[in-house]
Amino acid sequence: MLHLKLQPKLFISIIYPLLALIVISLMYVGYSDYKYIKTNTYQQAKNNLDIANEYLDQHLNAVNNQLFLLGETYRYNYNLTDFLLSAQYILDNENKYLEIGLLTEKDEYYATNYVYNTYAADNRSRVWFNEKMNYDTPFISPLYRSEQTQKWTVAIVRLLNLSNGKTARLVLELDILGLYDKLSLLKTLMNGYVYAVDSKTGQIVMHPDPSRISTQSISLSPIEIKRIVSNAQLKKDVNEEPNSELTTKNIINYSYQDQTKFSIYQADNQLGWILLSNSNNADMKYKVFNIGVVSFVLLAMIGVLSMIYFISNRVHSKGQVLSGSTRLEDIYLALSQMASELTHFDNMFFIIYNPYNRHFEEPVNNLSFNADDVLTEITQDKVEALKIPAPLITDIFPHQTCIRIPLYNKGELIGVIYLTNSNLKSLHFMNIFRNYAQSALINMLLTQKIRSEDSMTQLMNKVYLRQQMGTQIRCKTPDTYLAMIDIDDFKLINDHFGHLFGDRVIIKTADMLRHYFNHRAVTSRYGGEEFAVLFYAVDEQQAYQKLEEFRYGIETTAIKSELKQCDLTVSIGFSALRDSIDKTIYDADRALYLAKNNNKNKVYQSV
Ligand code: GH3
Ligand code: MG
Ligand code: MG
Repeated sequence: MLHLKLQPKLFISIIYPLLALIVISLMYVGYSDYKYIKTNTYQQAKNNLDIANEYLDQHLNAVNNQLFLLGETYRYNYNLTDFLLSAQYILDNENKYLEIGLLTEKDEYYATNYVYNTYAADNRSRVWFNEKMNYDTPFISPLYRSEQTQKWTVAIVRLLNLSNGKTARLVLELDILGLYDKLSLLKTLMNGYVYAVDSKTGQIVMHPDPSRISTQSISLSPIEIKRIVSNAQLKKDVNEEPNSELTTKNIINYSYQDQTKFSIYQADNQLGWILLSNSNNADMKYKVFNIGVVSFVLLAMIGVLSMIYFISNRVHSKGQVLSGSTRLEDIYLALSQMASELTHFDNMFFIIYNPYNRHFEEPVNNLSFNADDVLTEITQDKVEALKIPAPLITDIFPHQTCIRIPLYNKGELIGVIYLTNSNLKSLHFMNIFRNYAQSALINMLLTQKIRSEDSMTQLMNKVYLRQQMGTQIRCKTPDTYLAMIDIDDFKLINDHFGHLFGDRVIIKTADMLRHYFNHRAVTSRYGGEEFAVLFYAVDEQQAYQKLEEFRYGIETTAIKSELKQCDLTVSIGFSALRDSIDKTIYDADRALYLAKNNNKNKVYQSV
């Protein structure tokens, strides 16, 4: 059976290609959607035009039929009353007509709603009067306001060939707004509408905004209109099905009031109008925009991930330097570099707990603090908070902020990093920084412990003792003494009780040493069965006292192990701290020599 192991590394390796794939797919979907919407919109606009054209054609045919019938009745009997009765009946039943009239052979005008004007010159100067029209095709007037109703209209005029050889004109005024009522329902996308422009005058004839009627079209310049009309004419001449195919030639792009729009047009109706169906580009882009937003968010995610990856990389490369360092100077440098990768700060202070003297130390300025200087109890539940140690306050106080990063080892505070005037915001990176600092410090303290401690007795070793002596000499610490302690006749103990018991004696002596001297003293194993203590006393007298108490303690404590038991004595020589390490050791040694030569089990002071 196939056993597939799903490891995180598998996901890590596909995460970026996967995100890239999603973005590309979304971009493709967006693009193809846009294309699809575009063709659909064109098609919808074209369909709207077809419907509008059909609607106008039907109305015009109806008008022509009405005019033909009215004309036929008048042509033979010239009965005005009959004509007006029929015309009035038609007008009352069709709300898209404003007026039906007749310009008689005598150029007298009679129309519905009792309109008449017998003044020939007046009638011949009307907008709809055209001297040169023929019997076959009706004349369509330009746009004008109806005299009677003051509504926008175009008149359809039919020339009558009367039986007496004279001519008369039948006139029907169409209500443009009424006619447009139905056409206003033809919408494309959200804002697209159908409108019409008179191809002779360039005036808008139909529009959803009535105030635009009779104004010049924005999308159609006179040149454009000419081109459209001549194209339509050309198609008519070669008997081509007009506008059967939707091509880019039928599309006009323009902008109006900061909106980019396009119109699809047709110019093959009997009215001589160019019908247009316009659409808003923004409507089309709306959906694509949504997909764009999703793609952008994903791209931003990739950006953020890359940024995190980049920062982590930088931080971890500094972390590697840190992991390899056991020297305080190197750790301090690597930490301040790492911190400056992550945040702005003015100064970095690093304090470290010294378990041997139970103090916190600031190594750069050689400062030392009690735990109380660093920690403060803030609640009854003894929750400890960090404070800024008094000696550092002068450096830190002027700054508004000081980030304190505590470093722990097994729940115990082993150090604190102070970043002054810092704006470290990301908790994630702060934790990374803290983890690195913590493990570097633990590592350093462990190395220090291995280097400084005697593994058998857990006392400090000679190296550490000399270091501490050096520090005390440099700091000129007063009232400090060094004692050299040597177990008496230890060879005999080894010979008599065996080396294992001898080891036990050494360990027991070390315990006693720790017991008699407090944590401020440096208790060390100098080598073999010899010990050294660096300790504080108010004067030589007290120093002697302390050592004498220890000597007596050893003398009066029997060392036991299973069946074995032995008494033990030590010889001690001590000296006040001199201005050199070797000199101090030499003097204490000399005193020890004297003690040995004076029957041992004594405390001698160097002279
Ligand atoms: P003195 O009173 O003059 O100091 O005599 P001593 O026998 O104590 O001095 P000496 O220097 O002659 O002997 C020290 C012995 O301590 C020698 C060495 O074998 C033994 N020794 C050194 N280190 C150890 C240790 O770790 N374990 C044991 N069991 N013996 C040790
Ligand atoms: Mg010895
Ligand atoms: Mg000895």
